[in-house]
Amino acid sequence: MLDLDKRSIMYLPGVGPKKAEILQKEAGISSYEDLLFYFPYKYVDRSRFYKVAEVTGEMPYIQLKGRILYFDTVGEGRTRRLIGKFTDGTGTIDLVWFKGIAYVTDKIKPGVDYIVFGKPTEFGHIYNIAHPEVDPVEQAEQVANGLTPFYNTSEKMKKSFLNSRAIQNLQYTLLSGLNWALPETLPPAILQRIRMMPLAEAIKNIHFPESVDKLRNAQLRLKFDELFFIQLHILRMASVRRLKLKGIVFPSVGQYFNTFYKEYLPFELTNAQKRVVREIRADMGSGRQMNRLLQGDVGSGKTLVALLAMLLAVDNHCQACMMAPTEILANQHYATVMGFLKDMDIRVALLTGSTKKKERNKILPAIASGEIQLVIGTHALIEETVVFSSLGLAIIDEQHRFGVEQRSRLWMKNAIVPHVLVMTATPIPRTLAMTLYGDLDVSVIDELPPGRKPIQTLHRYDNKKAQLYDFLNKEIRQGRQVYVVYPLIEGSEKLDYKNLEEGFETFKEVFPEYKVCMVHGKMKAADKEAEMQKFVSGEAQILMATTVIEVGVNVPNASVMVIESAERFGLSQLHQLRGRVGRGAEQSYCILVSSYKLSNETRKRLEIMVNSNNGFEIAEADLRLRGHGDLEGTRQSGEGVELKIASLAADGQILQYARDIAQDILNEDPELLSEPNRVLNERLKTLFARKVNWGMIS
Ligand code: ADP
Ligand code: MG
Repeated sequence: MLDLDKRSIMYLPGVGPKKAEILQKEAGISSYEDLLFYFPYKYVDRSRFYKVAEVTGEMPYIQLKGRILYFDTVGEGRTRRLIGKFTDGTGTIDLVWFKGIAYVTDKIKPGVDYIVFGKPTEFGHIYNIAHPEVDPVEQAEQVANGLTPFYNTSEKMKKSFLNSRAIQNLQYTLLSGLNWALPETLPPAILQRIRMMPLAEAIKNIHFPESVDKLRNAQLRLKFDELFFIQLHILRMASVRRLKLKGIVFPSVGQYFNTFYKEYLPFELTNAQKRVVREIRADMGSGRQMNRLLQGDVGSGKTLVALLAMLLAVDNHCQACMMAPTEILANQHYATVMGFLKDMDIRVALLTGSTKKKERNKILPAIASGEIQLVIGTHALIEETVVFSSLGLAIIDEQHRFGVEQRSRLWMKNAIVPHVLVMTATPIPRTLAMTLYGDLDVSVIDELPPGRKPIQTLHRYDNKKAQLYDFLNKEIRQGRQVYVVYPLIEGSEKLDYKNLEEGFETFKEVFPEYKVCMVHGKMKAADKEAEMQKFVSGEAQILMATTVIEVGVNVPNASVMVIESAERFGLSQLHQLRGRVGRGAEQSYCILVSSYKLSNETRKRLEIMVNSNNGFEIAEADLRLRGHGDLEGTRQSGEGVELKIASLAADGQILQYARDIAQDILNEDPELLSEPNRVLNERLKTLFARKVNWGMIS
């Protein structure tokens, strides 16, 4: 065993303690292995030599072959620079150095042939290359054979002579100077099955590609490797949990479920809802503990599915609870559930932070005795004073607002871990879901209840406010209500609140005959409730708010959503906000108001919103536009997915393939104990020993 992960980078010739520290801090490279897995971010083709006569200012990196005619030092103080007049017989170009002048004139001699590499720019009709790489032609073989790798380096690294070229040299030292072969991470049978390059060859070619073809194959193998081991890790954790964690068995569909389904359900379930209910029933009857993620676009009817699942628990003599991220939402869920259940004989309680002490004192013992069968609430549910008699099912709504820790506290509420259903309306791209929630079973409601008119989305510039007001006036006169939302961005809160308050004043002036109300996060909970209530009851026609209304609020009569400074919202957030309207039978509108000056990316974002109503499509587009690192949801939970080479946006097929293979392996050998699978086990240990506990992300 070579234990490349245990050999300190400090001992690699050319590194030493000082550079080792910088490599560690700036690039996370502490071992030989870390260095080998520090991949180039791009390659420049150095197989071709350009002629000076061909040079233009728009070229990327190029290389020239020729000699320096003479050196000249110009400028004073900070503008002092060394210029080398360079020619290849077709013209001249200036090579310019601002630093290290003595070093350059010492090493590079006029009249000698060199290979020069750098990016040309035009300055006062003269082309020049600043700080070019200059190598003797004898070294052409080594420096100029085809694709040259470029590595990310920080300012600090560059200052310590660890620029891209230096990293390349270190890779060279490591790969050629030492006498070993890189051990394979996959068992022979798997390698044969996937028909990819062996790891050693891939690593060599990722740093020093022998050809474009070999580079592609190396990238494929390394992307596969990266995604495969993440999937293998997640799936193994999940399968071990399945083997070890017994679930409460809910064998029967009983009175509660059937009575509700046959007599109380006001409409037919959509096919998607039916399918998801079947999936949940199968899980809860299996004897395994359910861990299911329910994804469904806003308005797809998740609450009803949740209620049906809770009734199944009650049918099997268990309690169920549903936890929402805000009080407004918990209240609303409670009202919805009570509305559905009407006079059914079932005890439901609401428990939130503002539940009065007297009320609490009645509720808590009734939960402990099992008298109360369903509990709906907020974080208040996971306080220690809340003890269940037998909690069989815990439902968490709008999952991304809860941390992993809070969720696991819910699990601990029972001797046997309850079934867990996590609901989210934030559509997550498939690849990200597989990676972040890869250990959860996923159900998707991909169908809206019938009779909904698709929301019409319009993009308007904020210098055309009068037209907007006319439009709103027309809608309100027909009895509709209007949301107006302002952004609230970290760091600019003061300004954002000012915008909201000014907007509030303006709207009151523009619409004197209507009632306008306002909510934002800085208000006291009770005031917020009161303002919100004015809108819910229909007393106010216009609700102006920061993004506090983003999640879950249901006012079917509200048919217009105006989003101010829409350019400052992310796509998923815009989609969430838009989901607040379109819940009634009327034609609904979402109006994105932005300034006239927009970056290309922002313009694209708003265009996507105008053109698509499909949350999954939007999430995928978001992923393509921004890359996964920035996705809402990953950032909020604080557990981003850091990938070195694969991309969740571009490599969905490789990911699926890697996951399938990982699953096949685990089906045969769930704990990876067979002799050929030992390398897999070893690799998982190296990769995940000091990293996030992926299996606990649920
Ligand atoms: P979500 O939580 O997924 O955003 P809700 O559960 O709030 O969506 O449902 C949105 C609205 O659709 C609610 O008014 C609900 O009563 C209604 N609804 C749910 N399922 C159906 C259905 N199958 N047919 C008609 N309306 C439905
Ligand atoms: Mg909901």
